[in-house]
Amino acid sequence: MNRPAQPDFAVLGGGLCGRLVAWRLAGQGHRVALYERGDAAGSQAAAWVAAAMLAPLAEAASAELLITRLGASSLDSWPQVLAELPEPVFFQRNGTLVVWHHADRTEAPLFERRVRSNAPAELLDGGFVTLSGDQVGAAEPALAGRFNQGWLLPREGQLDNRQVLAALAAGLAQRGVETHWNTPVDDRALPAARVTIDCRGLGAKPVLPTLRGIRGEVARVHAPGITLTRPVRLLHPRYPLYIAPKQDDLYVIGATEVEGEDMSPVSVRSALELLSAAFSVHPGFGEARILELNSQCRPTLPDHRPALLWDGARTLRVNGLYRHGYMIVPEVADEAVRFAAALLEGRIGDADAFADWRQAARWSELFQLDCAREPA
Ligand SMILES: Cc1cc2nc3c(=O)[nH]c(=O)nc-3n(C[C@H](O)[C@H](O)[C@H](O)COP(=O)(O)OP(=O)(O)OC[C@H]3O[C@@H](n4cnc5c(N)ncnc54)[C@H](O)[C@@H]3O)c2cc1C
Repeated sequence: MNRPAQPDFAVLGGGLCGRLVAWRLAGQGHRVALYERGDAAGSQAAAWVAAAMLAPLAEAASAELLITRLGASSLDSWPQVLAELPEPVFFQRNGTLVVWHHADRTEAPLFERRVRSNAPAELLDGGFVTLSGDQVGAAEPALAGRFNQGWLLPREGQLDNRQVLAALAAGLAQRGVETHWNTPVDDRALPAARVTIDCRGLGAKPVLPTLRGIRGEVARVHAPGITLTRPVRLLHPRYPLYIAPKQDDLYVIGATEVEGEDMSPVSVRSALELLSAAFSVHPGFGEARILELNSQCRPTLPDHRPALLWDGARTLRVNGLYRHGYMIVPEVADEAVRFAAALLEGRIGDADAFADWRQAARWSELFQLDCAREPA
């Protein structure tokens, strides 16, 4: 049988979200084409730089309930996603340790209050454990004697961002997705497809003018001999920091959060702040080797929430994953895939059908009609 001239779906942007959406659609038997301006490794994506912590409870200190609920569900979905990928991915569910220096102890009650008010009850139940100094040392022997108190958030996780991107690229090839790497998409000449799914992150700004970038800077260091066993967050009034240990003594230390779409290299100030804070957590970081200093911008909508925006015709935009892409993408991509398949089948053709879909959806808060087409 001849294949139709155009694919069922064109996915624009092959960062984190675009890869997962395309891979899932192909797994349902659809014909999918993916267009990415950068390489197959994903080096142009915010996802390339991210620490990939899956920490809905720790993030509740600054994120609202929708995000933390998405994060909690996604944390349960990741193992299944990874089990289906053709390459192994480092994934850990060994918790997050939160600590602070004595001089910054006033940060602790603030953090705790925010977490308790923004996190779903099921995450808090047994998920937020107060530790004495001795217990901090028992949980993380490398930090024995260094902190008087801490919290263990035992259910949180993390994964290796670059391994996920590579494994998804292999999964796309395995499922027969037509991948167009090093192919920037121009909005004036979009690739032909029955349905378009725009996952370009900040690259969608020409069609989503309210989208903005929030710059983040990280260091990747090699530090043999420290042996942290889980991500550690340091509370600090000016330089809150995390240290995420990956495989082979690799640590991702981050991250700054600066308004503005500035993709220039990491500043001296930020490098000093990140690395000194890490050194203050464990002096062994003084002998670490700096492998990379990276900056990228988190794609952010005005309300700091992710959104699935339908244009009223044949295009769905998935954006606004901000600082939570890894943490929430399994659930967000699932909703996007379900909606896109319904679009393809012609089940959503007007605002009424959209409203019905939104009402019945598991994550109804994600859905929006693209502003330009929102009925008066
Ligand atoms: C410093 C930092 C630390 C982070 N840490 C974490 C963390 O610990 N946990 C977590 O959950 N999240 C974290 N994030 C957030 C996470 O990286 C993002 O939320 C996620 O990458 C967003 O996914 P996305 O697919 O929407 O965008 P991206 O990953 O940026 O992918 C968009 C893709 O679209 C492509 N593109 C853009 N324009 C075009 C075009 N015109 N044509 C073709 N392709 C195009 C880009 O090249 C890119 O590959 C962090 C982000 C940063 C910057």
